[in-house]
Amino acid sequence: MLGGGQLGRMFTSAAQSMGYRVVVLDPDQNSPAGIIADQHICASYTDEQALKQMAEQCAAITTEFENIPASTLAFLEQRTVVHPSSTALAKTQNRNVEKRFINSLGIATVPFASIHSQEDLIAATHSVQFPAILKVATFGYDGKGQIVCENLDAALQAFEALGQKECVLEQRIQLDREISVVLARSENGEVYNFPVAENVHVNGILHSTRVPATVSSAQQQTAIEMADKIAAGLNYVGTMAVEFFVDQSGNIIANEIAPRPHNSGHYTLDACHSSQFEQQVRMLCGLASGDTSLITPVVMINLLGDVWGSSQPNWQAALQLPNVKLHLYGKKEARVGRKMGHINVLDDAAESALNQASQVFEALK
Ligand code: ADP
Ligand code: MG
Repeated sequence: MLGGGQLGRMFTSAAQSMGYRVVVLDPDQNSPAGIIADQHICASYTDEQALKQMAEQCAAITTEFENIPASTLAFLEQRTVVHPSSTALAKTQNRNVEKRFINSLGIATVPFASIHSQEDLIAATHSVQFPAILKVATFGYDGKGQIVCENLDAALQAFEALGQKECVLEQRIQLDREISVVLARSENGEVYNFPVAENVHVNGILHSTRVPATVSSAQQQTAIEMADKIAAGLNYVGTMAVEFFVDQSGNIIANEIAPRPHNSGHYTLDACHSSQFEQQVRMLCGLASGDTSLITPVVMINLLGDVWGSSQPNWQAALQLPNVKLHLYGKKEARVGRKMGHINVLDDAAESALNQASQVFEALK
C-alpha cells in the first residue's frame, strides 16, 4: 500500500482479515495505516531504495492517494503487479487533464477553463460565467486550494493568492444534490458498482452520506453508467469513485474522479456484504468480486477534528445505540477539518437512520 492514511488503514485491515500481510510505504512515522501494517517502510514516495524493497517484497501494490507521483507507479510497474496503473493515475492528478478526459468520453462537466496566466483568466470569461470557483489544478482536497470569485477582478486576485499556480476556473452551479458512485473493476474489465451514495458537503468537506440516495432511479442509472464508462476509459483495476453534481434541472454532471476508495463509500464497511476496501483487495489480488449490494439503509457521518474540542468526544453516548458503528483512524492529533473517523448508523427505515445519525452526532460534541 502506497500511502498510510485512513484509506490505507482500512485497506490494510481488510487485507489482513483475508490472510494477507501488508507493507505500507508512508513518510509519516505515525501514519494510520503504517501503525497497523505488518511492515511500515518509512520513506518518501520517490525513494528508489524503498520502492525497490517494496517491489521485491510485495506480490501486488496499490495506492490510497492520487498524489503519489505517476513516475513512482511506473517504476514499480517494471518490477511487480501494480493497480491502478501509472497512466490511469496520471489522468486523475490534474483537474484540467481529468476534466478534458471526462469530456472526451462524452460526459459533461461544469463549464471550465485551464488557467496558467492572467491572460488565460481574461480569455476564460468567454466560456465560464461568474460566480466561478478558481481551484488549484493539483494537490487540492477537502475544498482546500479553492476560492469562490464573483467577477474577473476577484478571480485575478484569487490567482495571485493561489501563487499563480496552474488552476482551473469552474463555473459555480446551483447544486440540487451531490451523489457519488463507488465501484470496483477487475483485470478482465468486469465492473461491480456499489449503490449510489448521496452526499452532503459542508465547507467543501464531506459531512454525511446517505444510502439509498433520494434521486430518481433513472438518475442513479445515469450516474452508474457514466462512472463505469470512466472506469473503462481509464482501464482501471481496483476500487475507485466518481463524484457527481445534480443541477437544478436534474442533470447529472461529473465533478471529479478518485482513483482509490472514497469517503462516500465508507458506508459499505457496515451496510454491504463486501466493503469498498475488501473489493480493493479482491481486485488487486485477482480474486472474485464480493457482493456489493446493500444490506440495510445507512447514514455515514464524518468525525472531523472539530468534534474533539478540549477533550475526547462522548463515545459512550454515541455507542448507546446498538445500530451505531464507530470507526476511528488512530490519528494522534485532532485538528479542525481533519478527518479523524466516522460513524455508520444502520436502520431498516432510511429516515430513522438519518434522525438517529444527527442525534448521535450532536451527542458526541
Ligand atoms: P475536492 O477535491 O476538495 O473534493 P471538489 O471539486 O470536489 O474538490 O469540491 C468540493 C465541494 O465544493 C464539492 O463537493 C461541492 O460541494 C463544491 N463545489 C465544487 N465545485 C463546484 C462547482 N463548480 N459548483 C458548485 N459547487 C461546487
Ligand atoms: Mg470532491
